[in-house]
Amino acid sequence: MRGSCLARSRNRRTQKQRGARLTVPCIAILSRECNLRASEDAVQEMVMIAGGCLCGAVRYECEGDPDCSLVCYCRDCQRASGSGHVPAMSMPRERVTISGETRSYAAPGGSGKMTVRHFCPTCGSLLFSTPEVIPDLVNIYAGTLDDPSLFKPTWSFFRHSHAPWDRVPDDLPELPVST
Ligand SMILES: [Zn+2]
Ligand SMILES: [Zn+2]
Repeated sequence: MRGSCLARSRNRRTQKQRGARLTVPCIAILSRECNLRASEDAVQEMVMIAGGCLCGAVRYECEGDPDCSLVCYCRDCQRASGSGHVPAMSMPRERVTISGETRSYAAPGGSGKMTVRHFCPTCGSLLFSTPEVIPDLVNIYAGTLDDPSLFKPTWSFFRHSHAPWDRVPDDLPELPVST
């Protein structure tokens, strides 16, 4: 995603059925339940979400509410972030605009498809991921938001993989992973 500037559109994307199987051990996956939750909240006003990396070389903007907000406790996210979990907001790619050059690293998920994690080549901040299995999705890592309060997680993912020193909040139900 060099010099990326993802297509931007003011057209609110209609919810559509995704054919992805829920077997990838990462935040990439949206479940049907998650989409239903998003639909219930669809009456909210359009908001602008912005953020960027530590050094400021990479910036992004997203229009509207995320399809899904979750905290992923999978081992891949732990290693990639150097932390216990990754908080992420899944946004339709068409509503995300990114400025600045990023580098990326791809690793296979459980489905065999790649999850690509993007970071700033200058400061190393991990900014977002793009799942190969759902190519029209961008998972913004919520720690990079200008206003952290805009992240309102409703799901946990791979909570069984959480580190013994990391606590999974009781009010975050587990996003189902079908096999
Ligand atoms: Zn993960
Ligand atoms: Zn940076």
